[in-house]
Amino acid sequence: MDVSDWVTSIIATLALLLAGFTYLNQRRSTKTNERTAEAGERSATASEHARTAAERAAAAAESSARDASTTAKLDTGRWHREMGPEHPGVLDVELRKSTLGDNGWGLFGKITFPRGYRVDAHAAWRSDNRPVIRPLGFPVYLPGPQPFEFFVERFSQDQTRPVVEEVVIHMWPPLDGDQPDLWSCPCGEPASREADLGPHWEMRIPVKFER
Ligand SMILES: [Zn+2]
Repeated sequence: MDVSDWVTSIIATLALLLAGFTYLNQRRSTKTNERTAEAGERSATASEHARTAAERAAAAAESSARDASTTAKLDTGRWHREMGPEHPGVLDVELRKSTLGDNGWGLFGKITFPRGYRVDAHAAWRSDNRPVIRPLGFPVYLPGPQPFEFFVERFSQDQTRPVVEEVVIHMWPPLDGDQPDLWSCPCGEPASREADLGPHWEMRIPVKFER
């Protein structure tokens, strides 16, 4: 081999080495890129998981808040029911000589509340298919738990059934000065009749009687 052959051979070897090096370098860089992409993907998946976990946590917090509010509602609902008097089913009535001084007969009703309430009561029936109401002589505050008797309607000699179909009692918790141990209901229904927002409790008691 002469010098030029040596030079050619060395150049060829160098070229090969360079090609090889470039190839290796490219592969490494591809691998690195792949790894980077993989890592990126992994991190994306991780953040996806984190997001899902955060969403789950948020959903759980929301649901538990909802549960708490439902529980609170249930509690105030239960409290409201427990503080309201028990419905007697039908009105406890008695027909006897009226105390109104006209020697007539009167139908009297009797109700016993477990505790004191602010009350407003009326008798209700239908006449010519139209609703009619008449206030009943209830005091503004009715203390419990002793029975309270009230006049429902006058009864004529030939009358067999009452005209009044039901007694409607509206109730509110007592107000300051009504009783020493004041109680209240936290449910949000009107606390007194003053604002004219409606009753806190309404009890409609059927009047059933036959002579
Ligand atoms: Zn209530």
